[in-house]
Amino acid sequence: MDDSTPAGPEAGRAFSIPMRTRFRGVTAREGLLVRGPAGWGEFSPFAEYPPRECARWWAACREAAEEGWPAPVRRRVPVNVTVPAVGPEDAARIVAEGGCATAKVKVAERGQTPAEDIARVEAVRDAIGPAGRVRVDANGAWDVETAVRMLGALDRFDLEYVEQPCATLEELAQVRRRTDVPVAADESIRRAEDPLKVRAADAADIVVLKVQPLGGVRAALRVAEACGLPVVVSSAVETSVGLAAGVALAAALPELPYACGLATMRLLRADVTADPLVPVDGHLPVRVPAVDEERLAAVEIDAGPWRARMAAARAEWRS
Ligand SMILES: [Mg+2]
Repeated sequence: MDDSTPAGPEAGRAFSIPMRTRFRGVTAREGLLVRGPAGWGEFSPFAEYPPRECARWWAACREAAEEGWPAPVRRRVPVNVTVPAVGPEDAARIVAEGGCATAKVKVAERGQTPAEDIARVEAVRDAIGPAGRVRVDANGAWDVETAVRMLGALDRFDLEYVEQPCATLEELAQVRRRTDVPVAADESIRRAEDPLKVRAADAADIVVLKVQPLGGVRAALRVAEACGLPVVVSSAVETSVGLAAGVALAAALPELPYACGLATMRLLRADVTADPLVPVDGHLPVRVPAVDEERLAAVEIDAGPWRARMAAARAEWRS
């Protein structure tokens, strides 16, 4: 691929979009959008990721821009509303506004107490009603004892599953043996071989897959097939361009038993399309939103550093 091709280092428009609530310690989501014959691709690895890791994010962007995605087997995908580590009133409002039948509640946020987590999950259960599904996500922050204790306290709200209660596979396996709440692995999966390790360690009942870290929709489909566990497709909190790749993965999976974590557009204060991928009746439509020049220009930043990052990532992919 020479530098004149869409995913080359000379191409690409960089964006920085403020977040409504802090996420992974960041207050703005940044990345590069590139346009190719198949459409727009997003390259938005987190700031701390080295080129070696960014290579797969680049491959996902290249696939979107140059190849497009496999044919969908469904026309819309169910999604969950995500509730950040906010107070109970805000949590209830977010669930009501989300209009989804499934809610994912962030717990174990640094500096917060177990009582705050319990109050938030209770508010979400009340807001979503008895027929709704409630899952929690600890982002690996609990130790085994805390996880078992907190899941014991939270399971009266009828949890669908707990996402990444602890950091390591060994801890996840221990938690899984000591609770009835199904365990999903998220942060444990950053590379294609990781879901197989999760299964081999009996560490989870469900795997959370994201398109960019796995190197694209096709790569993620291969991972899902090889792993054999039920998949929840999640976003890396992208613009609608990046979210569309997640929707394409969810739409192409043979089975989709759980709502996906792709309704994250509302976490950003702006988008690069006039028709953002936000849920309608708890589902995202399977479609590719068009980039809107005016909206992209409104969040555009100097592309130099991002083009350099992409070039470094692409060089790692080749090596
Ligand atoms: Mg998670």
